Amino acid sequence: MKSFIRHIILDTQAVRIPLRFKKGILSILCFHGVTTHGRFCKTANFEGRHVHKDAFKDLLEYLLKRFNPITLEQLTDYYYAGKTLPENPLFITFDDGFANNYHHAFPVLKSLNCPAVIFLSTGYIENRTGFWVERLEYSIHNTKFERLRTSLLDHDLDLPLNSNEEKETAYRTILRFLKGGSRLSAIEEAVRLICDRLGFPALSRIDGNEDYRFLTWDEVKEMSAHGISFGAHTVHHVNLTFEDLEKARWETQASKHELESRLGRECIAFCYPYGRSGYNDKMEALLKESGFKLGFQLGGKLNDRDTNPMLLNRIPVGWGSRKEDLFWHILRS
Ligand SMILES: [Zn+2]
Repeated sequence: MKSFIRHIILDTQAVRIPLRFKKGILSILCFHGVTTHGRFCKTANFEGRHVHKDAFKDLLEYLLKRFNPITLEQLTDYYYAGKTLPENPLFITFDDGFANNYHHAFPVLKSLNCPAVIFLSTGYIENRTGFWVERLEYSIHNTKFERLRTSLLDHDLDLPLNSNEEKETAYRTILRFLKGGSRLSAIEEAVRLICDRLGFPALSRIDGNEDYRFLTWDEVKEMSAHGISFGAHTVHHVNLTFEDLEKARWETQASKHELESRLGRECIAFCYPYGRSGYNDKMEALLKESGFKLGFQLGGKLNDRDTNPMLLNRIPVGWGSRKEDLFWHILRS
């Protein structure tokens, strides 16, 4: 019975009726990348960060029949000027600044006339170093070795690497250790040693793949001229709460100023690297003092008028996210 009702709601024109009952809600989605590669092929995409281009187009077409996409300006006016939003508002965001945002997401967004905001870690734009996460993934995915024995932050690890599944487990295990409270400098050093162990000494850049590569400023400017907004995501993708206050201040302000001077418009939106763990009261105060008006975390929940605009909730979307499940999640939240 439950699945019959679900079918009626999801697959027929009845969809707008339940949405009207949820008046005042605001759904924000969080994407990272849009790819044309399968998982475990050219890119491992272990965490499913990149959604396939066909699935992305299909998902957006499905959602745009049910929701009204809104711009960053509309979102700001909703929280700061008392303005209303269109019925069933939907806000699309992308984190980090992968080159595939330009090559694969942008054409789809443009063709559907759907606005979005992309949060950039400005230190990686135009340089080909890539995040440590990508270097770690690349080394594990492409290594010839069958296991990784290493010591990581005082823990001895012995991880088999004989299949994609084992490699994914190894990757996630290492990630868990590294995201647990270390500063960026300690993480970078640990990843350098692991890459070295896996046969990729001095791996400092990964070229030739738009899923690993980051955007160029020309690509950012072109998107900015065609309905895409940009927000800050620090300079070096650091967890602000793990850094000292002066470093955190510099990371937020320098990324804001770089975006403003490159794009010639005020940057008022900030996305916390590592989601909620990158947020605390001190960071909120620091961001406000720097002129930010909107802050984005993850959390999977929806928003309304009472949500703190410096801590907006987003629903993560990745490889394997089904459009019906996503819509059902929004209806039931
Ligand atoms: Zn990020």
